[in-house]
Amino acid sequence: MTSFSALRLCAVSVDLDEIGCYTAIHGLPALPEPAAHAVYRRALPRLLDLFESMSVPATLFASGRDLSDETAAARVREAAASGYEIGNHSFDHRYDFSRRPPAEIRAQVEDGIRSIERVTGQRPVGFRAPGYTINDTVFEVLEAAGVAYDSSVFPCPTYYAAKTLAIASYLMRGRPTHSIVDDPNVLRAPAEPYRVGRPFYREGHGLLELPIGVTRNLTGRLPYIGTYVVVAGETGARVLTRCIAGRSLVNLELHGIDAADAHDDGLEALVVPAQPDLRLPATTKLKSLRAALETLRDQGYEFVTLRDAARVFGAEN
Ligand SMILES: [Zn+2]
Repeated sequence: MTSFSALRLCAVSVDLDEIGCYTAIHGLPALPEPAAHAVYRRALPRLLDLFESMSVPATLFASGRDLSDETAAARVREAAASGYEIGNHSFDHRYDFSRRPPAEIRAQVEDGIRSIERVTGQRPVGFRAPGYTINDTVFEVLEAAGVAYDSSVFPCPTYYAAKTLAIASYLMRGRPTHSIVDDPNVLRAPAEPYRVGRPFYREGHGLLELPIGVTRNLTGRLPYIGTYVVVAGETGARVLTRCIAGRSLVNLELHGIDAADAHDDGLEALVVPAQPDLRLPATTKLKSLRAALETLRDQGYEFVTLRDAARVFGAEN
């Protein structure tokens, strides 16, 4: 395998999971309008403002079903027209996506592609699975669909433990959750871009995988995703960023909700016990995010979309 030690690329992506995804994970009733669409209507514009102010290109992962909403479709269309990459986040964002029968997985992938193509006029080339859960069947479907890269593998022990404990606690309290436990073998996957083998967590000659960011191995592969960066505060975000600097690709994955504001966006019902990060005002979280991006730039990182990162790493792998 080629060494990428000289490369320093950072790809920022945003999973546009609408508020209904969070009420489903936490077993809560759906929120009324306009809170129900706060991610596309309120949080996404804040993130795009930040990216534009720093000249950071980004990849937005949209779920096909959300694009039946006119406002969401318009936002995605405008973002695509101004140079953002739009990636496929499946059609329905089912948290048990990877456990569905192969025909249903195929439909979820292909319907997601079609929905985005209909709205933007461009066929998406990247895929991210709902809830980071992926397996060999999903990879087979993605290859057959002509996808250029996947970015779903999250080889992070801290995140894996936290998610598994959260699901166990919901089940013990008899609360419904749509989240599922991942295959623990994902923790053995490379943390740098690689071509998947069989099983997918080994290197091979299959689809290009751009794993979600974790800090360098020496620092214990801590999660380098929006959920942690935005609550770390500006200083914490800088420290965490220095722990990932050195990787050839920093794949910083955000969620739209990272830029949501419980008070201003009417999301108070989600804060306790579901999303404690919503306690922080959006302005505070965006400052932490800006600090992380500034640190990456200071460390010599060039910002690219995941599509462009896939071209670079795909050519050398
Ligand atoms: Zn998602």
